[in-house]
Amino acid sequence: MSIAKVDLHDALKKYFGFNKFKGLQEGVVKSILEGNHTFVIMPTGGGKSLCYQLPALMQEGTAIVVSPLIALMKNQVDAIRGLSNEDGIAHVLNSSLNKTEIKRVKEDITSGVTKLLYVAPESLTKEENVEFLRTVKISFMAIDEAHCISEWGHDFRPEYRNLRHIIGRIGDDIPIIGLTATATPKVQEDIIKNLGISGATTFKASFNRPNLFYEVRPKTKTVDVDIIRFIKQNEGKSGIVYCLSRKRVEELAQVLQVNGVKAVPYHAGLDAKTRSSHQDMFLMEDVDVVVATIAFGMGIDKPDVRFVIHHDIPKSIESYYQETGRAGRDGGEGHCLAYYAYKDIEKLEKFMSGKPVAEQEIGHALLQEVVAFAETSISRRKFILHYFGEEFDNETGEGGDMDDNVRNPKKKTEAKDNAKILLDIVKGTNAKYKSKDLVNVIIGKENALINSHKTNEQPFFGKGKHEEATYWMALLRQLLVAGYLRKDIETYGVIKLNPEGEDFIKNPKSFMMTEDHVFDSNDDAGIIT
Ligand code: ADP
Repeated sequence: MSIAKVDLHDALKKYFGFNKFKGLQEGVVKSILEGNHTFVIMPTGGGKSLCYQLPALMQEGTAIVVSPLIALMKNQVDAIRGLSNEDGIAHVLNSSLNKTEIKRVKEDITSGVTKLLYVAPESLTKEENVEFLRTVKISFMAIDEAHCISEWGHDFRPEYRNLRHIIGRIGDDIPIIGLTATATPKVQEDIIKNLGISGATTFKASFNRPNLFYEVRPKTKTVDVDIIRFIKQNEGKSGIVYCLSRKRVEELAQVLQVNGVKAVPYHAGLDAKTRSSHQDMFLMEDVDVVVATIAFGMGIDKPDVRFVIHHDIPKSIESYYQETGRAGRDGGEGHCLAYYAYKDIEKLEKFMSGKPVAEQEIGHALLQEVVAFAETSISRRKFILHYFGEEFDNETGEGGDMDDNVRNPKKKTEAKDNAKILLDIVKGTNAKYKSKDLVNVIIGKENALINSHKTNEQPFFGKGKHEEATYWMALLRQLLVAGYLRKDIETYGVIKLNPEGEDFIKNPKSFMMTEDHVFDSNDDAGIIT
């Protein structure tokens, strides 16, 4: 089907009242209308919902939208109904409906009134629903929060793994639309593989948030005082403070209140009424600050959040990006301040210890990236965007000076010779070590694994003795970000040589490095036990 440009804009105006498409929306809508499998990667707030809602409203039949969160589905259905005079235009199908309600939903779908049907994956799997959906016209299938399909995402849901099979049972040639705000290459690959949409037309928006300022401070005994001081300097502005535990949320909210900050706690342990009243107080600006666990934020659309503080470092860069992303949605200032102590990482590792081995390996690899992010002295924005598969140039890119490391750069030193040593050793060992063991080989520290490969007998073993392990770790990370090396994901982080690294070995050139920040790992103050 070919849809003229003017029709699309008319439809956008007619259904949503918007004059222009946002970002990549128009291309996505066209791709869906053409019946292509389509993959959409856009940061939160990018306008993903419209990408499938508009073509659903324009087409014959019902679009099925799979989403993991019942509350979000309800919001979306209300919003769509609000745009039209017809309640039946959008429905949720879930287990909370009674018989009469289910009958109504089915009638509306059969008669062609319903354009959007929201379902949770568990409801879609139900035999009676599959049987019913086989008999009606489905325009396409949109899988929202598609990263839930991947163990490498921050929110793995095993039920998502079944989706491809179920879709196949509902119909043979239903176009599939995957949407996510998680941009790591590995998660993308998993989504494409699991949804079986290898030829999908892919749209990926930039993840750069130029108005956000990123800062990491060491977490010491006086972290609470530091947070109070920061909030007082930003008096009257809205902000969120994230903590790992409910207990810590309660304590910190109290400390803030005692110190004259208008703050409320929010976590899943509070009853529903308190949670919704605290959320409303924040939205209505009766309070300035919400101290919260990660339970807070899903679907919160307060555009003028001016700061997001992480009292505890999150368990992955994705989580950090999602949570900090709640600041400055209106395009205005957004200060993202995280407190970091290595002890917190160890604590997060301990949480994982009871989990299956593969999950632990993934969790560990994700945490190592958080460590690298916290300790790095290269631009934080560059680091984050690199993590999401995007190259960023601080000189020319928007927001290039908006982080602590760029504002207060550490001195750079020439590391050409040491970069050569490091890359030579990656090659010399046939690229089989993860970062820790690689550094051990460089500084000549034996262990069972290294000895079992007889790497300790190689001439290059210990060739970098003249520097400390922390130095080599920093150099390694910077060579990764610069693209000379890469981390292999299948093997949970083995360091491999890129063609640029091979070239460097042949023709070494200047490589300016900055040493990582040194965080005192013995300082366990401020850590809640
Ligand atoms: P996402 O699902 O990617 O997080 P949403 O679909 O919730 O993003 O959209 C974010 C916001 O952008 C919403 O408030 C939505 O109304 C608005 N929006 C979406 N498309 C447009 C557009 N074309 N013009 C103006 N506002 C838009």
